[in-house]
Amino acid sequence: MTQQNQWEAVIGLEIHAQLATKSKIFSGASTAYGAAPNTQACAVDLGFPGVLPVLNQEAVRMAVTFGTAIDAEIAPYSVFARKNYFYPDLPKGYQISQFELPIVGLGHLDIEVDGISKRIGVTRAHLEEDAGKSLHENFHGLSGIDLNRAGTPLLEIVSQPDMRSAKEAVAYMKKIHELVCYLGICDGNMQEGSFRCDANVSVRPKGQEKFGTRAEIKNINSFKFVEKAINHEIERQINVIENGGSVVQETRLYDSVKDETRSMRSKEEANDYRYFPDPDLLPVFISEEFKAQIKSQLPELPDAKKQRFKNDYALDDENAAILTASRHLADYFEALVKASGCEAKLCANWVTGDVLGALNKAGLDITDSPVGWQRLAGLLIRIADNTISGRIAKQVFDALWTSENNESADDIITAKGLKQITDTVAIEAIIDKIIADNPGQVEQYRSGKDKVFAFFVGQVMKAMQGKANPAEVNRMLIDKLK
Ligand code: ADP
Ligand code: MG
Repeated sequence: MTQQNQWEAVIGLEIHAQLATKSKIFSGASTAYGAAPNTQACAVDLGFPGVLPVLNQEAVRMAVTFGTAIDAEIAPYSVFARKNYFYPDLPKGYQISQFELPIVGLGHLDIEVDGISKRIGVTRAHLEEDAGKSLHENFHGLSGIDLNRAGTPLLEIVSQPDMRSAKEAVAYMKKIHELVCYLGICDGNMQEGSFRCDANVSVRPKGQEKFGTRAEIKNINSFKFVEKAINHEIERQINVIENGGSVVQETRLYDSVKDETRSMRSKEEANDYRYFPDPDLLPVFISEEFKAQIKSQLPELPDAKKQRFKNDYALDDENAAILTASRHLADYFEALVKASGCEAKLCANWVTGDVLGALNKAGLDITDSPVGWQRLAGLLIRIADNTISGRIAKQVFDALWTSENNESADDIITAKGLKQITDTVAIEAIIDKIIADNPGQVEQYRSGKDKVFAFFVGQVMKAMQGKANPAEVNRMLIDKLK
């Protein structure tokens, strides 16, 4: 058993976010995911002799947008460098990246863990191109190479070693994920590899200032795995040290099936990348005007939006956090409040409950919701004006969800005859009949068994197919059963 509490972990993340440009960072080839292998790699991506890369301005705009959002220094002058190494999915023999002069310098963002806020530093963010992919399945012991991904723009975001637990690392990674999605510079799809990270982990005795030797765990593509891989690695390093050994600086691979990390290569075997400025590309100059323009176009950021939702809509912390977790969801909610004119609380409950529940079940994103905010507004208006009860509304919502011709809530209420009955004469007649038919229960109620009341409400609702106004039914039943 290790003495976990005598040790402190130190963690720094290198996150790779694929930038959502239409074409590649140095060529006109498409970046769309999922095309047949090797149909989207052009001569530039493959590094054929004589070709020249041309920088995609959109990738620069996205990098500067990110830097601006984390209050980072934007370099007025940055340089692309060649990182030389050999790998089958890198036909050029080098990756174009940035080394000494990255486009985004020191910045920061705040995370929250267990209600405590903490500032995490971002050392730098640089632009680079992605490599191709090796395919190992269905090649009968051989490997296939798909170069569609070669040349896809990446923003590598390097954090300071500021995190002290796997939980903090996950909170940081989620925060960056939320941010790049808000900014519209990355689609955030982790399954497709659009957002992935390398985790650098070391441990030191509590109270010691000097960092321990770190291991780097490569290419983790889910929040759950980041947490598991880091926790596993912390435990492993403590064990090594407590058993008299020492941690070696190395690159490790996380195996999610076995839930363990394995050594890939040690520092001694590490590549010497022989970085040098790419002679085919001009340095990037960023003007004050360009920076100012990007700043003025920045959308409202997640933290600010969450605070505004709490202030303007009187939402609690949890609902405000859920509704601002994605920009599209936040837009949906605000459009709903505006279009329905209903209380924000009612709107929030429907969005976080029914809408998100149904979307989760169907595995859909809010942008693909079968019930848009316009049709949901139509439904909420009918709850607010007492045309239907909350219970019937659930039924109408299900019908809106499955409706094939975009019917409105009103269409469904009319077609299914779901209008709430507030007509007291009609309700009274039913109540009288139920009281007459159930003398035993009436007796019980009158002798003090309050619980039977629910039986009467149930009977009335059943007889009226759930359409009676519940408040009215309660009021009249109390009166009649006296
Ligand atoms: P490299 O150039 O080898 O990638 P960097 O100095 O750029 O190394 O650091 C890479 C990442 O490792 C950064 O996120 C940094 O915060 C983190 N890091 C550096 N030293 C340590 C350490 N001792 N323990 C944990 N993380 C570290
Ligand atoms: Mg690195």
